[in-house]
Amino acid sequence: MTISIKRGGEVIVKFPFYIPHYIAQKFFASKVAWVKTHYNRLKEYTPTLPLAERRKLFAHHKENASALVVKESARFAKLLDVHIKSISVRNQRSRWGSCSARGSLSFNYRIILLPSALSEYIIIHEVCHLKEMNHSKKFWNLVETLCPDFKSRRKELRVYAKKLL
Ligand SMILES: [Zn+2]
Repeated sequence: MTISIKRGGEVIVKFPFYIPHYIAQKFFASKVAWVKTHYNRLKEYTPTLPLAERRKLFAHHKENASALVVKESARFAKLLDVHIKSISVRNQRSRWGSCSARGSLSFNYRIILLPSALSEYIIIHEVCHLKEMNHSKKFWNLVETLCPDFKSRRKELRVYAKKLL
């Protein structure tokens, strides 16, 4: 037998046809404390935007994010005299950006939702990988030349990562 609570507060009890109702009721009664705990949390749930709206919003964010990362990456690539092969903006769950060995940069579209100091740090970080493909001391020194306060920006970024990623 299982009990599940849907977002919005619908409680569903499932049991096989051969189990008498009173047994199912007893089972449910034994789980009331659990149901109450989760019911209170789940009934507060506010539904997310409909899919079509979410797609529109995603497309909108992605477009703005692309414009930002293309412009800013080019600016820092010029300063470091490095070549960017391509730039893409994606829906990534666990990272803000990455740099491939071939010199392609990719960024999380959520970068557009960050304060500009933080999106700038992410872009600097990835562009620096075009020169230093690791997280060595040399790499961080390079980051520091373009972004002297990178340490505090990194720290602040972790707070946003918890909310946005
Ligand atoms: Zn890195």
